[in-house]
Amino acid sequence: MNEPRKLFVKSFGCQMNVYDSRRMADTLAPQGYVETSAPDDADLVILNTCHIREKAAEKVYSELGRVRRLKEAAAAEGRRVVIAVAGCVAQAEGKEIIRRAPAVDLVFGPQSYHRLPQLLARAERDGKAVDTEFPLDDKFDHLAAPSGATIRMRGVSAFVTVQEGCDKFCTFCVVPYTRGSEVSRPVQKIVAEVERLADAGVREVTLIGQNVNAYHGEGLNGRPQSLAQLLEEVSAIDGIDRLRYTTSHPRDMSDDLIAAHRDLRKLMPQLHLPVQSGSDRILAAMNRRHTRADYLDVVEKLRAARTDLALTSDFIVGFPGESEEDFAATLDLVSEIGFSGAFSFKYSARPGTPGAEMSDQVDEDVKSERLARLQAEIDLQQQSFNNRCLGRSFEVLFEKPGRHAGQLVGRSPYLQPVQVTAPASLLGEVAAVTITEIASNSLFGTLAQTPARELAVLGAGA
Ligand code: SF4
Repeated sequence: MNEPRKLFVKSFGCQMNVYDSRRMADTLAPQGYVETSAPDDADLVILNTCHIREKAAEKVYSELGRVRRLKEAAAAEGRRVVIAVAGCVAQAEGKEIIRRAPAVDLVFGPQSYHRLPQLLARAERDGKAVDTEFPLDDKFDHLAAPSGATIRMRGVSAFVTVQEGCDKFCTFCVVPYTRGSEVSRPVQKIVAEVERLADAGVREVTLIGQNVNAYHGEGLNGRPQSLAQLLEEVSAIDGIDRLRYTTSHPRDMSDDLIAAHRDLRKLMPQLHLPVQSGSDRILAAMNRRHTRADYLDVVEKLRAARTDLALTSDFIVGFPGESEEDFAATLDLVSEIGFSGAFSFKYSARPGTPGAEMSDQVDEDVKSERLARLQAEIDLQQQSFNNRCLGRSFEVLFEKPGRHAGQLVGRSPYLQPVQVTAPASLLGEVAAVTITEIASNSLFGTLAQTPARELAVLGAGA
């Protein structure tokens, strides 16, 4: 019998890439590849790249320098290592990657990973292979399903891609160019995937997509279904206790999706809803297609639908043309809403996007100073939210053993890590926990007597 070949996949960026990396491993498993966490042990190294952060391509080239040295060391021992670059940087850079990093054997975009076995064969035959097409066939139809053992090894919380690509064309974002236009998977296929996950012990599923609430996949009746309808279908699957979805666009928060937050008990009371700026002038320059008032209106409806809903968001500081007045509008929006956390970044130009061509770029020093002010406010809001959890009881899904003996770590409904002294038999289970201590952004608690389903809700406003 042949020795298994070892695969090392390094994921950069978002949950979508983590999901894609896992599906790549699933696709290669029937070819005899097993995953390793040690890159110097691997026969195939895949860098699954992300184009969102600043200098993304440069970071990939410097990582490739390290991987090239591993390849050279293996070659000195008579062992062949194949290097592949996948994901959004691969899509954007294409052949340029092989020109600048000749040790790379294969470059492929996010829409091609279901063809990995064929692409590897092509790279072996021709020396190099590049595939950055947007093929018409549905890659999800060609992906091998992970085994029950693999699902169990990955834990009780899983991501499932339901939608890819984006048609919004925000002027700072590369996603519409690297991932293409919006495509939604059919309901039936998503339900089948979640059922397989549930059978293998998964208890929490996060439906993911670049613009997930624009979901419009074909339903069982042959007609397009909304994300709310999809959530209802998935919610009916036995064994799944918790549902989440990310990342959403404010404009696609339809009334039926807002109502799902009221009606679906399994849908967790936490929503990531990027706003990016509090200034209408900047929102227009970003081509966000919503105003500050639109965002506030959606938040009001969501909070009316579910009083314990906690909101997180994304902010870009120093978008071209942002004045002190525009930035003050962002700070004001943050105070008005009260978030339980947020990601915030300085604007940095992405080649090929309209924002990169704008003439009124903001000075780096000004961006840094504004970002520090925004992050200080968000940190205060996060602390305030966490402090309000003290003494409350809520359901925790236990995911893994803690650092200390007898301790388990789980997630609250609001995604906070919670450490609890609890028997190992609770791993993979949902149990009621009373929060007894807050340290930094970690919560500590004890098992509660309250029936898990009847816990007090947490007011979400700041
Ligand atoms: S909605 Fe999101 S993914 Fe789409 S272009 Fe805007 S920022 Fe990018």
